[in-house]
Order: sequence, then structure tokens, then C-alpha cells
Amino acid sequence: MSRFLGERYQALEAYTPGEQPRDMRYIKLNTNESPYPPAPEVTAAMNREQVELLRLYSDPTAGGLKRKLAELYGVKSENIFVSNGSDEVLNFAFMAFGGKGAVFPDITYGFYEVFGDLYGISCEKVPLKEDFSVDYRDYLGRDKLVVLANPNAPTGMSIPVSQIEEIVRTNPDSVVLIDEAYVDFGGETCLSLIGTYDNLLVVRTFSKSRCLAGGRLGYAFGSPELIADLEKIKYSTNPYNINRLTLFLGEATVDAEAYYQEKCAEIQKTRAWTAAQLTALGFEVLPSRTNFLFARSPKIDGGQLYRELKTRGILVRHFTNPRIAQFNRITIGTPDQMEALLEAITRILNETV
Ligand code: PMP
Repeated sequence: MSRFLGERYQALEAYTPGEQPRDMRYIKLNTNESPYPPAPEVTAAMNREQVELLRLYSDPTAGGLKRKLAELYGVKSENIFVSNGSDEVLNFAFMAFGGKGAVFPDITYGFYEVFGDLYGISCEKVPLKEDFSVDYRDYLGRDKLVVLANPNAPTGMSIPVSQIEEIVRTNPDSVVLIDEAYVDFGGETCLSLIGTYDNLLVVRTFSKSRCLAGGRLGYAFGSPELIADLEKIKYSTNPYNINRLTLFLGEATVDAEAYYQEKCAEIQKTRAWTAAQLTALGFEVLPSRTNFLFARSPKIDGGQLYRELKTRGILVRHFTNPRIAQFNRITIGTPDQMEALLEAITRILNETV
């Protein structure tokens, strides 16, 4: 830290992203990326002209992409905000709507707390129930920014839309942000509620189900008023927030919807197989509606399993928070990658336990 850093940032604990090692080729099951490439049409759309056009700024209104998303999801362009990864909408939402404080689960996406700290927002962390599920009654009538990942991360578990609606209905004077980063892998979206409630913001990403994590593209659905607030923040920080190539490839991605539906179905199939195999090895596997599994073995500590797998060229995610330190979060890869993972785990359990 230099002596120039503003006082309010000195104690800030930054978010720690999952490892992106460059030292060797790992089977990378640690940051919930897709194991599949973007649709062939998306790759084919990229060309020399698009690179040459980089001399021009990108469209700050993201009009073309908004129109395509609006058509796909049956909403209006004025209901959509587009961002540089969904982390950016989350950032803007905390900045814009966190004035009365924020509330979210103790075990959830770690960035929420960082944004809260960044903006000096008092954050209340509500413990998940013993079985790691969210009790929606903890969020009724809170009159603060409510932030719920649904499905939640890293647990993978979800709550029904009827419970989300109760939360939104009983917090009419504050924003309820539902982070649907993983909804395409078997979750239930609450998008249909945005026409009824002006305080609901639904956040999505192209990083997981749209195989575009490196493109950095996220979006949100909400009432026109909420979207206008987010636009105001965007135009006050970084009007050209999404680069030209990503906007272009994002549009091609929306056009290739069928490919992505198919890949999401494949991942859910691989997830079911992997969960059954891990269970057979004695793991407790939480019920996942995402592209990852959260699992613990009574035989081996989560940290040890993480390290053993890493030396064998397989990366999974381990969190040191004591409540979940027994667990590992395992991204669903291709069937071959999952077979390699299970083989490695079997060997580790035989050799080290
Ligand atoms: N929300 C959740 C719950 C996540 O797990 C992630 C991925 N780390 C994000 C949002 C952010 O994803 P991105 O910025 O790549 O859209």
C-alpha cells in the first residue's frame, strides 16, 4: 500500500478471484467457466473488419444487444442494462441502491461483501440454515438492499420464485437484487416479476451458460426507473463500458440460443452423473441447480483434497471460511474431465486416507 491511498480504502479487503494459473495446463474446474467453446456461429462472426473497427468507440447505449435480449426474453429494451461482466452491474447496484444498508447470506458470492465495504454500506450477513438453504423469511420486510444469488453460490441450491416474490413484495421501498448467474442450469427465473414490481433487479451473465467468461458481458432486467438509475451511474463512470468486440459477439451469442440450451442440458446431465459418482465415494453433495457441485467427504479435509488434486493437474475451488472449509466447489466440465476427476479422487482416497 502506498502512502497515497485514500483512508477509506486502506482497510478494504479486495475480492480474491479463483486461480487462473499459467504454469501448466490444468483440468480447470475452479471458476465455473463453461468447458465448451462459444457456438460455431459466434466464432465465425469474428473477422478482420471487426478488429479494424476497434478504432471507433463502442455503442454506449448497447442498443443492438439490448434489442436482441429484449426479443429473446419478452421484455422491452428499457428493462435491460448491459454491463462489463455481471460484476459491474453488481458494483453499480451496490453504489446506487445500498444507501439503507444491505443484507445477504453468510455463505454466498464473496464479492457482495467487498462492494458493501467499498461503498461504506453496512452489511448484514444472515446465516444459511443448517442444511445450507436460504430461509426466505429472513429477508421479508427488511427495507435494505436485499441481495440473493438464486441459485446460490457456492452451495448451488435455489429457492422457488414464490418465495422471491414474497421478499420483493414485502420490501417495496428498497431494491431486491436477484443474481441469476447460474439460472440456466436448472434454476427458476424470477424475470416474470419485473412487470409487477418496480423494486426488483435480476442480474445475469454471459460468463457461464453462454461460454463467454473472457468476453466480460453481463446484464440486468428491471423496471425502467431502476435501469435509468444504473445508466446514470454508468454514464458517470465509464460510458463505453463494454468493448466493441464483446458487444458484437454478444449479439451473435443471442442469435445462437439453441446451441447454448443444448450445452446447458449436457452440463446438467454430466452434473447428475458426477453427483452420483461422488455420492458413491462417500461424499455429501448438496443439491445443485448450477454448473458446479459443492461436496464434502467425511474422509478428507477440503483443503487437503484441493491440494492433492492440484498436484495431479486438477483445479477445484476451496474456501477457508470455517463453515464450509470441509467442502470443495467443483465446476462441471466435459464427461472426460469428470472421469479424470473421479479417478484422481478415488486414488487420493486410497492413497492418503
Ligand atoms: N454472480 C455470481 C453468483 C458469480 O458466481 C459470479 C462469478 N464469479 C458472478 C456473479 C460474476 O460473473 P461475471 O462478472 O463473470 O459475469
